Amino acid sequence: MTTTEHDGRAGQERETGMRMAREREQLCEIGRRMVETGLVLGTSGNISVRQGDLVAVTPGGVALDRLTPADCPVLDLSGNVVEGGRKPSSEVPMHLAIYETTGTSAIVHTHSEYAVVVSATMSELPPIHYNTLLLGGTVRVAPYATYGTPELAENVRQALSGRQAALMQSHGAVAVGSGLEQAFEGARLLEWLCAVYVRAKLIGEPRVLTEEELVAVIERAARG
Ligand code: 13P
Ligand code: ZN
Repeated sequence: MTTTEHDGRAGQERETGMRMAREREQLCEIGRRMVETGLVLGTSGNISVRQGDLVAVTPGGVALDRLTPADCPVLDLSGNVVEGGRKPSSEVPMHLAIYETTGTSAIVHTHSEYAVVVSATMSELPPIHYNTLLLGGTVRVAPYATYGTPELAENVRQALSGRQAALMQSHGAVAVGSGLEQAFEGARLLEWLCAVYVRAKLIGEPRVLTEEELVAVIERAARG
């Protein structure tokens, strides 16, 4: 954090009396957009954002379009609540495991429809569209484990290796990013890719892009 950012943050906390005030506002905003765009229903899904050695996360069992910043607890990297009265999301072990091994700053977990369909039927989502590369390539499906368990956290952590997103078998999807906006867009893109795959499969066997074709896309993108 730069000195100016630090001063801005300290000022903001003085004004609102809240730690990570801006990030907690953003959790509410992204939560509303997740419900609006159909990525989650009811109380499913959760979101978190990291700032240094603190993480702000959505509370457990609350609809993501009904949150206020004060509802979102702030945790340290061991999962201890440092601010906020509500119980943190049950998936905190998964969020913390991801922060522990990646440099990512934001995580979005959804139960979006086509992601669940693919996660329940396949072991990976192959690249049938070149935009799969925006998520790091073929999307892995983390093996099933009960929600909120360290086992699920470990499976997802491994499935995310070198990727911006993963599917969770018979459960949903997770996307990471350098900010909440990017993680949210990753979750939307993954849902779109899953929907395209499922619909393509209704007509015939979808053609998977070859390694050569994917390399050509990476080279083309590098040229700007
Ligand atoms: P929480 O309401 O505890 O965040 O749980 C929702 C969920 O998606 C569990 O996987
Ligand atoms: Zn879930």
